[in-house]
Amino acid sequence: MTAAAATLVPPATRHGPEPGPGKQAAGEPGTPAGRHVLLEQVITGLILFAPLVGTVVATVSLFGRGVTTTDVVLAVTFYLLTGFGLTAGYHRLFSHRSFTPARWLKITLAVTGSLAFEGSPLGWVANHRRHHAFTDRKGDPHSPYCYGKLPWSRARGAMHAHMGWLLEPQPLGNDRWVRDLRTDADLVTVSRLFPLFCVVSLGLPALIGWLVSGTLAAAVGGVVWGGLVRIFLLHQATFAVNSAGHIWGKRPYVTREADRSTNFAPLALLSLGDSWHNNHHSSPRLARHGVDRGQLDLTARLIWLFERFGAASAVHWPDPVALAARRKPLVVLAPKASEAARP
Ligand SMILES: [Zn+2]
Ligand SMILES: [Zn+2]
Repeated sequence: MTAAAATLVPPATRHGPEPGPGKQAAGEPGTPAGRHVLLEQVITGLILFAPLVGTVVATVSLFGRGVTTTDVVLAVTFYLLTGFGLTAGYHRLFSHRSFTPARWLKITLAVTGSLAFEGSPLGWVANHRRHHAFTDRKGDPHSPYCYGKLPWSRARGAMHAHMGWLLEPQPLGNDRWVRDLRTDADLVTVSRLFPLFCVVSLGLPALIGWLVSGTLAAAVGGVVWGGLVRIFLLHQATFAVNSAGHIWGKRPYVTREADRSTNFAPLALLSLGDSWHNNHHSSPRLARHGVDRGQLDLTARLIWLFERFGAASAVHWPDPVALAARRKPLVVLAPKASEAARP
């Protein structure tokens, strides 16, 4: 997913030049802007680490109460609902315009994406577009290569790309990346309601758990498994596309200079297809990221269903000729002179 990059709180309207990694700043401590940035960081920290605490609680409770069928169904259902909101909605639709949706579908994807606890649609898209514009160069919000080439610098860069960047003040002028989306009243409204969707994201699984079993324990199980554990897992899958998806894996397609995006196959299922990240960076507008044979891409399947039932049109499907033109040529290593001389 571009996966997925995210501002966990809606960005404030600030304007100014584009800083690079390590140069983000917005106001000195003590000024209103400085206090605002601090508040954003505190909220982001809470949103990031509360699911981790919930997951630890859930793991410990396995030795006591255990996990019920309702817990598991809630966790899987909400994972898919909110995960597809991110991949089909935030990423392929709003960031890259991979298809044209019916209005009800657009709003549904914006809402389900908001339930993923990864920020408002406008904030998420702004950061993601910035990532594509400056991939692995100065200005990329979450490149793992921004701290240098020494082993320690690489480790620090990987942590920055995975989660660390979310705790840093966001740069000035992020709004300019979503000027087109700001004219969409539906998206603006959904973005403004992001805090409400955070409450719904935890409250709804609790309510369903209580309605199904009629006990307080089931409601708590709903919050923990359908809420916190699900959010934690989806966060890690999304964040890993930004970190692992620029470090490990294959790079079969041509990208721009400095772009180190990779296809990270182990994450294909959990990322719902967004971990075919090199394919995506090479052809960002495609609705299918798993463009090659055998590359699982559940989000592409879902968009295909949307198209089939008339909810999506003008879908940007891969063109074999265009793909072949972007594929890197196979490098055949010549035998060493000593080997070539052997009989
Ligand atoms: Zn993208
Ligand atoms: Zn990327």
